[in-house]
Amino acid sequence: MNGVIDNIHTTQEKIAELEQQSGRPRGSVTLLAVSKRQPVSRIREAAAAGLRNFGENYLQEAVDKQRQLEDLSNLIWHFIGPIQSNKTRGISKNFDWVHSVGRSKIAKRLSEQRPLYLKPLNVCIQINLSEEDTKSGTTITQAADLCALTDSLENIRLRGLMAIPAPTDNREAQRENFITLSRLFDELKSKHPSMDTLSMGMSNDYGRAILQGSTLIRLGTALFGPRPS
Ligand SMILES: *Cc1c(COP(=O)(O)O)cnc(C)c1O
Repeated sequence: MNGVIDNIHTTQEKIAELEQQSGRPRGSVTLLAVSKRQPVSRIREAAAAGLRNFGENYLQEAVDKQRQLEDLSNLIWHFIGPIQSNKTRGISKNFDWVHSVGRSKIAKRLSEQRPLYLKPLNVCIQINLSEEDTKSGTTITQAADLCALTDSLENIRLRGLMAIPAPTDNREAQRENFITLSRLFDELKSKHPSMDTLSMGMSNDYGRAILQGSTLIRLGTALFGPRPS
């Protein structure tokens, strides 16, 4: 297995190529390092290589790591996991971004509970493409209403959309999912100018996501290798 720093450099080169291939300026795609279940030593390596954005899925694990990394003052923390209502207070206090808001109740609680000494919380609305009720996220049909509600909340800044399309080997289906999300993003952005982030693409599909307009990719295994169980 390669080291974290090598993985980061290889990935950054690929991102630069994909940006160029899709006619977008260099640096237009943000690399979010998904550090869930990875030890803080790996986060330190990634930070030393210049990464600033880190994504975590579990509140307690994230808070423990943040405490151990307090000396690195310029890290930006993103919450990307499913959100239960009893976790909103901790999330609103300890993160800069939340990507996984799929219900109005959660958006309202995050705004109410965001401490006033912090800047507004950056929020992406999670879209559930498959419309299975077991999955988190809002449906495409309900996305416009949830964006409007979220945009009206005082302590939240609506930044964009996030999605985790079901993994598939069918490239055409995958491409169609990304195109659907991209179109929805463009449509909603025209009503909500603060929306500048399309959070789509993970280790196994980020190339195709960038080609379809993703502005932020969330990579775990591509940077850190397999997650310790
Ligand atoms: C774990 C996770 C990722 C990273 O997945 P990899 O396949 O390891 O890149 C990205 N997004 C979300 C929401 C995740 O939970």
